[in-house]
Amino acid sequence: MDLLSPRPGVGQIKPYRSQRPPKDGRRWIDLSLTQNPLGPSRLALAAYREAAGQIHRYPDWSQDALRHAIARRHSIDVDHIVCTSGSEELIHLVTQAFAGPGDEVLCHEHGYRGFLKAIRAAGATATIAAERDLVVDVQAMIDRANDRTKICFLANPNNPTGTYIPVDLVQRLRSGLPPHTLLVLDSAYADYCRRSNYSDGTEIVENSDNVLMIRTFSKMHGLAGLRVGWGYGPQPVIEAVNAIRGAFNVSSPAQAAAAAALTDAEHEEATYAHNAEWLPWLSRELERVGLRVYPSVCNFVLARVPTDPSLGVQAVVDHLAHRGILVKPVSDYGLLDCLRITVGREEENKALVVALAEVLG
Ligand code: PMP
Repeated sequence: MDLLSPRPGVGQIKPYRSQRPPKDGRRWIDLSLTQNPLGPSRLALAAYREAAGQIHRYPDWSQDALRHAIARRHSIDVDHIVCTSGSEELIHLVTQAFAGPGDEVLCHEHGYRGFLKAIRAAGATATIAAERDLVVDVQAMIDRANDRTKICFLANPNNPTGTYIPVDLVQRLRSGLPPHTLLVLDSAYADYCRRSNYSDGTEIVENSDNVLMIRTFSKMHGLAGLRVGWGYGPQPVIEAVNAIRGAFNVSSPAQAAAAAALTDAEHEEATYAHNAEWLPWLSRELERVGLRVYPSVCNFVLARVPTDPSLGVQAVVDHLAHRGILVKPVSDYGLLDCLRITVGREEENKALVVALAEVLG
């Protein structure tokens, strides 16, 4: 008799793991996840608390209030929005809905690893286009697309490289892909990038019938623990995701808090300003203590540890952990000697640089 086994591909997926602060009573500085160092918006927190009184009821399956809040805020059509449990769930749902065994899904070399997981979980095959100097190479992506390419994922800006491509290149990618390929623009870090040649993809969605944009409340809005993401796309894509999502996939406190966060301009501006001040500071200081830092438009930087046989990435990670600081090694992205470091609060950033100077000095 056959032993119980998951379907092909699932066995290749490694469960998510990242270093967690030991519960040793110390105050840890966690720069290993791309969270908001200022915490959640006060308005979101108040809405969350108020909604908590109703948690004996199922959440609104239609996500009406939250979708309207998103539509108002972004001046987009409410009927083209779907909300999910983090944008991660949306990545899984759209992959399941559009790709399966025998289909190909296109990604870029150092693209967000959540894409690969979703592709394998759906039983589809990932095709990986090479990048150029850690930046997406649009022509390489177009060249890898074929009759079987059902989805093309583009994280813009990308995690963990922190790099982005300008809107004219995203347009070029869209028009270079076959019409049967759904282009998924993951704009998780869009709120941090105010470059004039950058777009989260809203107008690209509006001018085509095969583009889905994905956003999240986990970063700028500081609601990573609540798990709220959303997508904006053409009707058939939204309908397909609605058809297969759990009816109650976003909890009622999460829906209420996310809607309230969109009205908290003060929190957003404070978050943006903090990042705009400390991202360049961190980049400069990390270079000063000997790391190679790649230019980032996100709330984190990618930093390469100098090649020194006596000092590997792990030694740096261990030293930082000894000092109570967590950062993320990104070897699973093929970036063997690199760390992804999130911008923290002032004192956290300064403590990190001091600890790095000790080990690299
Ligand atoms: N996309 C990208 C590019 C990310 O970096 C992340 C979080 N690490 C996600 C999607 C998923 O975020 P969430 O599920 O918290 O919305």
